[in-house]
Amino acid sequence: MISETLNNAINEQIKYEFYSAQLYLAMAAYCEAQDLPGFANFFKVQTQEENAHAMKFFDYINQRNGRVKLFSFDEPKNEYDSVIETFKDGYDHEQIVTKRIYNLSDLAMDERDHATMSFLKWFIDEQVEEEANFDSIIKKLSRIKDDTSALYNLDAELAARVYVPPAPAQA
Ligand code: MG
Repeated sequence: MISETLNNAINEQIKYEFYSAQLYLAMAAYCEAQDLPGFANFFKVQTQEENAHAMKFFDYINQRNGRVKLFSFDEPKNEYDSVIETFKDGYDHEQIVTKRIYNLSDLAMDERDHATMSFLKWFIDEQVEEEANFDSIIKKLSRIKDDTSALYNLDAELAARVYVPPAPAQA
């Protein structure tokens, strides 16, 4: 059984993953409004990933005989001045998520909860990928600047992103 402290901390993380999903969906809405469906697709896929992260924590708490609780969260930012601003915000956000996952891992380590440490390893690895994704698109957008045809090429590239569900937890 999972400790109450870790259970509560993971419930907070479930909230944060659902908040991430909303934040990226608001970014998708902004990109749709800019007639950039490929960028919007990138964020819609990101939203699906964040919902899956929340559910991975949800299932883990239940597997460990804990109790999931859902909390409300703040409204996401809806207004942006540029596409690059969405990715810069996304990159900042993912770095906060990484810190949160590390804090969870520290807590699991303090409690010598090896199962939770092992479970969190997937998220630690995932965060490396998340940060790299946002960073690489920011670099591309910085090089593109005001080149409209290059922007549409990148939009077409991001239109090809498809959602791949994470492997289910080992039961
Ligand atoms: Mg996440």
